[in-house]
Amino acid sequence: MLTCKEQVARSSDFLDGQLSVRERFQARHHLLFCPNCRRFIKQMRLMRATLRAMPEPPIADLDEIALRLAHEQQVFGKD
Ligand SMILES: [Zn+2]
Repeated sequence: MLTCKEQVARSSDFLDGQLSVRERFQARHHLLFCPNCRRFIKQMRLMRATLRAMPEPPIADLDEIALRLAHEQQVFGKD
């Protein structure tokens, strides 16, 4: 059986489906008997889902704000 350290080390690959059949089996076997690692995997999966669900990167918003500011300066800047 894998140690928790080994399990945690391959958690990312496990979620990505990057493990070999044998490694996947070992990981599942470990998760079956280890509530701590089950919780860890669950949190990791949740975190990844949250990251994926996030809107456009903030930099896009900054661009839009900059454009809007530039536009407003054109409108109100003339006197
Ligand atoms: Zn464990």
